[in-house]
Amino acid sequence: MQVIKRTVLKQKPEKGTALGFGKYFTDYMFTMKYTKEQGWHDAKIQPNEPVRFDLATTIFHYAQGIFEGMKAFLQPDGSIGVFRPDQNWARMNRSAERMCIPQFPVELAQEGLEQLLKLEKDWIPREAGTALYIRPTIVATRVMLGVHASTEYLFFIILSPVGSYYAHGLEPTRLLVEDFYVRSAIGGTGEAKCLGNYAASMKAGEEAEAKGFDQVLWLDAQEKKYVEEVGSMNMFFVIGNEVVTPELVGSILPGITRKSCIQVLKEKGYRVSERRISIGEVISACENGTLKEAFGTGTAAVISPVGLIRYKGTDYTIHGGKMGDITKLLYDTVTGIQNGTLSDPYGWVKKIEG
Ligand SMILES: *Cc1c(COP(=O)(O)O)cnc(C)c1O
Repeated sequence: MQVIKRTVLKQKPEKGTALGFGKYFTDYMFTMKYTKEQGWHDAKIQPNEPVRFDLATTIFHYAQGIFEGMKAFLQPDGSIGVFRPDQNWARMNRSAERMCIPQFPVELAQEGLEQLLKLEKDWIPREAGTALYIRPTIVATRVMLGVHASTEYLFFIILSPVGSYYAHGLEPTRLLVEDFYVRSAIGGTGEAKCLGNYAASMKAGEEAEAKGFDQVLWLDAQEKKYVEEVGSMNMFFVIGNEVVTPELVGSILPGITRKSCIQVLKEKGYRVSERRISIGEVISACENGTLKEAFGTGTAAVISPVGLIRYKGTDYTIHGGKMGDITKLLYDTVTGIQNGTLSDPYGWVKKIEG
């Protein structure tokens, strides 16, 4: 693979800097292009610098684009570990299918990612709770107005050293149950990690933030009755001795952290149900004391405890606003496997010898 080097490297954030999320970017990126005639071609690693686009490029007008989120961690043996990349590539091709984007060759994307990570190994932060976030993206690059699937695309991977997703770290989050706006309906694009989903969710997100909430808890579009997910996390509730997560009905993003948590919990003997769960059931469980814990799962936030939800003007505190035992167990297990401090019985961490 062609590697175009830069003459001057960027200043890395100093040790101890609060990295936040998505603020710093590494020196290089992986790119490849697609045209109808050539298919995917011109795979290379090049300096991560601003790129010029004609303003009539499809992506700017019709948001025909998709993305992924993964994390890489420095392993105790000195190698680089990436959490379940095969799952992300498979989901990215499913998102591509939904958005009329041509399937990309997974082996080439993985090879590009591995070469990029080897080159950028020094950017992987080491402090607890940090990681190198990986953002693969495909955008439609044909220069033409008119609502049609593009015939040209750019695939790129950029890297960002990150700390915790929420400004308050592992403090339990406050969620506002949204009963007006909708994120996604069955038959829509909620199942795909496509760009437009996030633009569509911003209005509700901004309004929730203005009221002091971290994120919105979305309900189903049809009845505004069933819990779906949070903007970038899947939801779990511990009710009595059952761990419940909304079933993937077609409007919910099929999270890889979600899937991993279900597997860990089942292995540890918990009763896990993927089923529809109404907001009414959550609220009554809260009122009668059977709602023990609630948490969100996602690559960016990992496992994030939920301390409070507001529904129709009433606040419901969960587990005294503190992180619960199952949430903690999952956080420790998943991050332990990712960091290589726990064994990896499922083979989830793909190791790259740097
Ligand atoms: C990415 C994302 C998630 C989490 O998925 P992971 O694979 O666990 O990172 C959940 N919900 C939405 C809407 C997302 O975009």
